[in-house]
Amino acid sequence: MTSAKLHCWINGQRVRAQGSRSGEVHDPASGEVIRHVPLANPADIDAAVAAARAALPAWRDTTPLRRARILTRFRELMEQHRDELARLASEEHGKTLADAAGSVQRGIEVIEFASGVPHLLKGEKAEDVGRGVDCHSLLQPVGVCAGITPFNFPVMVPLWMFPVAIACGNTFVLKPSEKVPSASLRMAELFQEAGLPDGVLNVVPGDREAVDALLCHPDVGAVSFVGSTPVARYIYETGARHGKRVQALGGAKNHAVVMPDADMAFTADALVGAAYGSAGERCMAVSTVVAVGEAGDRLLPLLKERAAQIKVGRGDAADVDMGPVISAAHRDRIVSLIDSGVAQGAELVLDGRGISVAGCGNGFFVGPTLFDRVTPQMDVYKEEIFGPVLIVLRADSFDDAVKLVNANPYGNGTAIFTGSGHWARRFENEIEVGMVGVNVPIPVPMAFFSFGGWKASLFGDLHMHGMEGVFFYTRSKVVTSRWPAPAERTGSTLAMPTLG
Ligand code: NAD
Repeated sequence: MTSAKLHCWINGQRVRAQGSRSGEVHDPASGEVIRHVPLANPADIDAAVAAARAALPAWRDTTPLRRARILTRFRELMEQHRDELARLASEEHGKTLADAAGSVQRGIEVIEFASGVPHLLKGEKAEDVGRGVDCHSLLQPVGVCAGITPFNFPVMVPLWMFPVAIACGNTFVLKPSEKVPSASLRMAELFQEAGLPDGVLNVVPGDREAVDALLCHPDVGAVSFVGSTPVARYIYETGARHGKRVQALGGAKNHAVVMPDADMAFTADALVGAAYGSAGERCMAVSTVVAVGEAGDRLLPLLKERAAQIKVGRGDAADVDMGPVISAAHRDRIVSLIDSGVAQGAELVLDGRGISVAGCGNGFFVGPTLFDRVTPQMDVYKEEIFGPVLIVLRADSFDDAVKLVNANPYGNGTAIFTGSGHWARRFENEIEVGMVGVNVPIPVPMAFFSFGGWKASLFGDLHMHGMEGVFFYTRSKVVTSRWPAPAERTGSTLAMPTLG
């Protein structure tokens, strides 16, 4: 992967894109262009879908056990290449190597989950649903599936999708974020090395033109998307209009509710990691604290002290806690939102604007930023900032805090910090959010549970990986059968048959 010019991966080989457009991939720490990425056109998408379609019959008929063995080999190769993949993710995204390695591990765990596919695809069977009549269900592949992924997890989010889809007998076309394409291309090579037949996984970098071609393509049966809410809504509506099943995970504004009975030092440690890790560019980042009663006055100094100590620098440098954000445009948007918070009357406790990082003059950096006394009317509350900005709102009671969280349009993740099982139980029961932590700031479910939010954080019905992922990538079929002896073959009836 030393070439400065990237390619598509179609039918098991590197292929030059037919489209003439290309994009620039930056090192966000230096601001330099490190690669050029092709931006696929509809002809490239046609070629990738045709390869996936041609590979489908043989892959569908490969036994789940054999598919699982290839996945197991892929997992082993991913483990051997963990550092290389973490380095690619860090290089193009900017996150620290330790953070990137953690996200590679969480992705590998999805491959591990998908390797259990012979067990996961077992249907249900009921004997004697009627006299001499049995019933069983099958989970069969959907066909050619497509995945469209965001910039913030170059390895992990693609791995939420294609291992499960492929394990279930589908073939796949992945369109990674054009900002971080290299890790996806490398994973496709490793999967081939593991024994995956050509055409089962294809990777086509691109932007909206490629996405539109996938959404309209008659041979694509299912589309998985992860990204921002406006695009998720568009993907869901457009895909559905073209008759596809769609799961589209959107943006987030994750609140942590802090009760006065929480252990404040423990809570501050957890919140600072969750707010500023990956420069806040995680869909499960805690960006909003709702401090109940006197919790705020005790928590704020602890948050400030910890946030101020975060060491900002290149993601691949030693002892760095937080890297740059993805682009100059994104940095400028974050800075303008911080400006708006000041203008609208929030209390700026720690200001990350104008940070300078030695040796990285043109890098896309914003320092850790902390606001207190934010209100729901302010833009820093209403917008998903997706940067290293933590805002604190005050609430008088548990009920007011829950009301605030439930009124927010997003519902991806949330957490409560408390020493009381009573508050934790009520929070878990009443909160309208898909992933909930109790004294856990980033409650990302393990691969054998499913990942996904509610409300504007999810368009579609099924979450990713876990059993919901298996259900998304399969169609269920129910078979009812009987084998009557000749004497039992009675004449026809026009009445609705009942089996009891
Ligand atoms: P994005 O929506 O800009 O892009 C996501 C993907 O969609 C990319 O592959 C991109 O090429 C494509 N795309 C962008 N604009 C498009 C358009 N107009 N039409 C069709 N396709 C388009 O998101 P991003 O900036 O790459 O990622 C950050 C966002 O993703 C944040 O909002 C974050 O919360 C969200 N995210 C959500 C989850 C989740 O699980 N809910 C996980 C990770 C990231």
